[in-house]
Amino acid sequence: MHKKAEELMFANLLNFGENGNITLFNYPAFLFPSEFILKMEERLSPDEIYTLAKHIPAPIEKVLEDRQMKDLERLDFLLELVEILGMGSLNIENFDKTSNTHKVIISNTNPNKISCNHTRGYLANAFSTSLEKNFECEETECVSTGSQKCVFILNAK
Ligand SMILES: [Zn+2]
Repeated sequence: MHKKAEELMFANLLNFGENGNITLFNYPAFLFPSEFILKMEERLSPDEIYTLAKHIPAPIEKVLEDRQMKDLERLDFLLELVEILGMGSLNIENFDKTSNTHKVIISNTNPNKISCNHTRGYLANAFSTSLEKNFECEETECVSTGSQKCVFILNAK
């Protein structure tokens, strides 16, 4: 099992209850096949998915605040979650905290993955709230169009 997932289960932040409830960061969560999520996404525009996905980390914010995690520690935590949430294996190229541009590469993406507009929104939120700048995220390469990996560029205004 992924090390971070084990840590979360140990800390009871990812919990599979006997009563049919799953909680992630003390909030109710669901596990749906990506096929179902894809079907829902077909009804939304890429920008709608991107904007909605910026809210994915919201339930996590309180846990991070309680633990007084901020800045790089917070970003590191949120980026590790990308793997647990099933978005793939993540790497950042030449990370420089002071830069207004960051390049994130995600490989090992599930061939049946949900669209990357989710990932764009999640990354924009993670970088913006951790580094306290307003980042927007674009995807420049994608496995869905034949690339070996997905490449995301984050730009702060
Ligand atoms: Zn992609």
